[in-house]
Amino acid sequence: MIDTHCHMDDPQYAEDLDAFLAAQQEGGVEAILVPGVEAATTQDVLDVCAKYPRYLYPALGLHPENVKEDWREQLATIKAAVDERMSNSPKGVPYPIAERPIPYKGLIAIGEIGLDYHWDTTFKEQQHKALREQMRWAEQYDLPVMIHSRDATEDILNILREFPNVKGVMHCFSGSHEVAKQVIDMGYYLGIGGVLTFKNCKLAEHLVGIPLERLILETDAPYMAPVPYRGKRNESRWMWYVVERLAEIYNCTPEHVDEVTTANAKALFVIKL
Ligand SMILES: [Zn+2]
Repeated sequence: MIDTHCHMDDPQYAEDLDAFLAAQQEGGVEAILVPGVEAATTQDVLDVCAKYPRYLYPALGLHPENVKEDWREQLATIKAAVDERMSNSPKGVPYPIAERPIPYKGLIAIGEIGLDYHWDTTFKEQQHKALREQMRWAEQYDLPVMIHSRDATEDILNILREFPNVKGVMHCFSGSHEVAKQVIDMGYYLGIGGVLTFKNCKLAEHLVGIPLERLILETDAPYMAPVPYRGKRNESRWMWYVVERLAEIYNCTPEHVDEVTTANAKALFVIKL
């Protein structure tokens, strides 16, 4: 399993990080991808990943909920960090993904970025601008994107369509079957996490007809722990409960789900372990 979305820089993990990661590895987790969400914690994401260079892989971005008055300054700070990381290329930029050395010193993706109208739409226009700008970074460096979308489906699909060369994942996907189809038709993957195990979750029905080849696993840890750990600090190894649920939905073995979704994550993020 590969956890394609896990906030390992969260202070909740600081105290027992070594033991925590050892437990994830023992639990079958091959790699963990760590997205950035704001300028203030950009260095934290890079630092925690630098400690475990063959296990934690960083992405950087400005989360739509953090698009406030200072969004331009935040973007400038994050872009400087992106440029610095990507300048490790022996050939300069842009850096073709097929030529990345191992262990990779660059970034695995731009993310998490997107639109969120759930609590606050004060900065809607700024969210659009920030998203477009970060999509251009992905284009510039040939990186995939991790997309966060909440109550903003139509706008997000319209903006992503402006960038046909960029691919990525719709993180924590919980939309309708129709939206799922549109997302995969655009060449994006669906990020599936603990929500799938929640009672009354309609996602299982929405996945009918969506090929397993378009799904990748994630936790969104420390949030979104699956049943039977709902409400706890989430762990990547608990994705196995999601794998088992997917095996029921797709009428196959959990091992097959694991194999296919892991291959999908490796293909999208060009991870060579
Ligand atoms: Zn997240």
